[in-house]
Amino acid sequence: MQTDLEYAQQLDSQDELASYRAAFVHDGDLIYMDGNSLGRLPCVTVDRMGMAVEQEWGRDLIRGWHHGWYDAPQRIGDKIAGLLGAGPDQVLTCDSTSTNLFKLTLAALALRPERRRIVSDTLNFPSDLYIIQGCIDLLGGRHELALAPSIDDMRIDSAALAGMIDEQTALVTLSHVVFKSGFLYDMAAVTARAHEVGALVLWDLSHSAGVVPIALDSCGADFAVGCCYKYLNGGPGAPAYLYVRRDLQDQARSPIWGWFGQHAPFAFGLEYHPAAGIDRFLAGTPPMLSLLAIEPALDMLLEAGVERMRKKSIHLTEYAIDLYDALLASAGYTLGTPREPELRGSHASVRHPEGYRINRSLIEELDVLPDFREPDNIRLGLAPLTTSFADVWHTVERLRRAVDQQLYLRYPAERLAVT
Ligand SMILES: *Cc1c(COP(=O)(O)O)cnc(C)c1O
Repeated sequence: MQTDLEYAQQLDSQDELASYRAAFVHDGDLIYMDGNSLGRLPCVTVDRMGMAVEQEWGRDLIRGWHHGWYDAPQRIGDKIAGLLGAGPDQVLTCDSTSTNLFKLTLAALALRPERRRIVSDTLNFPSDLYIIQGCIDLLGGRHELALAPSIDDMRIDSAALAGMIDEQTALVTLSHVVFKSGFLYDMAAVTARAHEVGALVLWDLSHSAGVVPIALDSCGADFAVGCCYKYLNGGPGAPAYLYVRRDLQDQARSPIWGWFGQHAPFAFGLEYHPAAGIDRFLAGTPPMLSLLAIEPALDMLLEAGVERMRKKSIHLTEYAIDLYDALLASAGYTLGTPREPELRGSHASVRHPEGYRINRSLIEELDVLPDFREPDNIRLGLAPLTTSFADVWHTVERLRRAVDQQLYLRYPAERLAVT
């Protein structure tokens, strides 16, 4: 293992995706390790937004609905579908991930009215679990939520999970890549297990879309949701997406009966009749500027190609783990991410009892921006189009320096509101 900067620079010079880096806005020497939380801003998006505001809003005004606004949820959804292994007319860009999860959880439970069990896991994003708990409450508390345990705080015990999915199970809902450790599920295997007993599956793709090849159609996945502001570079609070398998669309119902999901919104009839197909999962008027901001990045991601991005992503996480072994393991850090490439997404977590304060010192004085997840995880989000091998090298070197020079002692352990 070579631990010098020159080696990282050599890897960058051999990187076939290296040229994409300059297509994003950069600010000085800041090393950005949070592409898994808020992806960088593509330069083309700046121009696109200028046009959306000045021309479309400013001059086209209401006519904008005929010039690419009204069909934006479907058009952008079809582009996202290209990253999810999904054919057309099955993905919509709308609402937030939380809202879409709510809609699709209730849609799924209504398709299995006799069944009372929902299966998830203890490593799922807590908000996802809150949404499920809220759905259970809304339905009168008749369902139970069973959570598969972790073996090691990183991975889920797949045998225990398979055992929990039984004939009473209405829905299995999991994050494809787990937010803290980066653990990656075998989507085909879990989906097949659920279908074996007649259960439905809802995947949250927030941490896998754009970096891990996904095959929703060929896995036969029923439902999926995910976020556009992480590896999809759609901007802060960007609308999210949802997927409903084509042959379920006309049986499934959104619990939010808004006019955009009505079969003839501009007939202004007094009774709700759901639109045919995926459109029934829309609710109301989309936040158009935020929605349009997603599109330019998608064109770039599709051009770069999921397979090439996955290849670089594995290389980046592998390199980060190699450097962890060489430089961080001896400084009190432990690895919070699976070592097997087929078991992880595109971020690597390193853990340290002083993780929170170390993270602060990186941000405040070492010009590195990772993020921190309780109780002790420093997450390094490695976005294939924007992260270089030299970025990884500098980050690990500074993580080491923060401990060697005890820089973290300058910061309080009390948490800021957003970590
Ligand atoms: C980021 C993320 C979300 C975000 O949900 P919002 O509704 O956008 O706040 C949801 N689920 C998972 C697994 C995530 O990683």
